[in-house]
Amino acid sequence: MTAPAPITLFWFRRDLRLHDNHALFRALKDQGNVQPLFIFDRDILDKLEDVDDRRVSFIHDVISDLDAQIRSHGGSLWVEHGKPAEVIERITEQHPVKAVYVNSDHEPYGLARDKEVEDLLRAKGILMHSHLDHSIVAQSDVLKPDGNPYTVYTPYMRRWKERVRNSVIPAYASEDELAALAPAHEHTAIPSLDAMGFRNTAYTVPLARDPSVDLLRHYGDRRNFPGVEGTSRIGVHLRFGTVSVREMVRHAMRHSEVWLNELIWREFFMQILWHFPHVEQRAFRPAYDGITWRDDEASFLAWCEGRTGYPLVDAGMRELRATGFMHNRVRMVVASFLCKHLLIDWRWGEAWFARWLMDFELSSNNGNWQWASGSGCDAAPYFRVFNPSLQLQRFDPELVYVQRWVPEYGTSDQLQPIVEHRSARERAIATYKAALQ
Ligand SMILES: Cc1cc2nc3c(=O)[nH]c(=O)nc-3n(C[C@H](O)[C@H](O)[C@H](O)COP(=O)(O)OP(=O)(O)OC[C@H]3O[C@@H](n4cnc5c(N)ncnc54)[C@H](O)[C@@H]3O)c2cc1C
Repeated sequence: MTAPAPITLFWFRRDLRLHDNHALFRALKDQGNVQPLFIFDRDILDKLEDVDDRRVSFIHDVISDLDAQIRSHGGSLWVEHGKPAEVIERITEQHPVKAVYVNSDHEPYGLARDKEVEDLLRAKGILMHSHLDHSIVAQSDVLKPDGNPYTVYTPYMRRWKERVRNSVIPAYASEDELAALAPAHEHTAIPSLDAMGFRNTAYTVPLARDPSVDLLRHYGDRRNFPGVEGTSRIGVHLRFGTVSVREMVRHAMRHSEVWLNELIWREFFMQILWHFPHVEQRAFRPAYDGITWRDDEASFLAWCEGRTGYPLVDAGMRELRATGFMHNRVRMVVASFLCKHLLIDWRWGEAWFARWLMDFELSSNNGNWQWASGSGCDAAPYFRVFNPSLQLQRFDPELVYVQRWVPEYGTSDQLQPIVEHRSARERAIATYKAALQ
């Protein structure tokens, strides 16, 4: 009896596509007999609070679709539910494995997970190959001339553009290499949502994965108005890798500098988290950890449920719960309202967004929350406090957005504000000032 041929594992994580997938391309091209693997990671899933988490349903659908695509090329997707190091250890004990290919991660959890897996593989003489896929530049590719990381966006963005414009953004035609997949194998079937403790939950995610040229041409003029369909809604696809960021950046370079700048904000916050991992728990600027936050659970609940009496804030918070999305302008207003008007710790708001946003991304969420609270790098000065009523007049003048989410607006059922703007603003400035002096 001949021994089974060694396989090369390609482990999908936040790169859930066959198209233009860097590490998948390298595995197929350099090794052959490639067995794709996906693990429903218990270290992540067991911490989720809701059985109706839309993201788990979305991932489950994407994984089923990927399996079907891979089967149409003669292979099959191996899907497990467990802790990654344990799953990979078991696979290597049951099958000869030549190498493991992954696309690299930038979050503290992903880095620790990959180190654990890499160490256990190395002990068995198996190499783990890691490639850059979910950003254009690696975390240490764009540094200040003195070798330190940038902590201000604009010079980072300029340097990023210089670097990227002077090179060619590669394309990895992984789909053309699929003949190098390992033949289909009846591994364990894809675990059902039910078996993993979740319920099938409806979600809305844009099907078109590249924003239209028309949307990008008008992005600069329309992006701030939540009542208008002026932004791409691509965040969820970038988060789970159902689009290639390289394609998005090429598209942006052709059609919209303003949209390109937003994609660079994403990479800016990725490198902040990577270079300054303390931001996951603490303020980027330590002095801001001295602020005396109000542990006011009733006001927090009113904010979460969209019952603050400020129509734009309430519309945003209701949109988030109902859809898993909130427009960027409204995210800025609700975040500022929580940290300044209610003087509630930004980490409470950050955790609420992490629970509900379909496009939740630790680095972007943390970076933007710290920006809104004033504690982050390149953040607005603490004494600048958004006035939610003026924001409504400016950015939803026809009340298109507010009336969609706050139907009682303008009726006798309209809620009274839970805090008065002027006194809340003065309280915030005084509290911040006391902590920062
Ligand atoms: C308090 C707060 C929390 C946020 N949390 C997240 C989060 O968890 N995940 C997330 O992807 N974005 C987050 N953002 C940034 C931004 O609101 C969303 O990226 C954007 O609203 C997503 O909609 P879109 O895909 O239509 O974006 P578009 O406006 O079409 O922009 C295209 C892409 O650029 C990136 N981008 C745009 N703005 C930003 C930004 N300010 N920071 C980082 N990347 C950006 C995103 O990947 C986005 O999908 C947050 C913003 C705030 C103020």
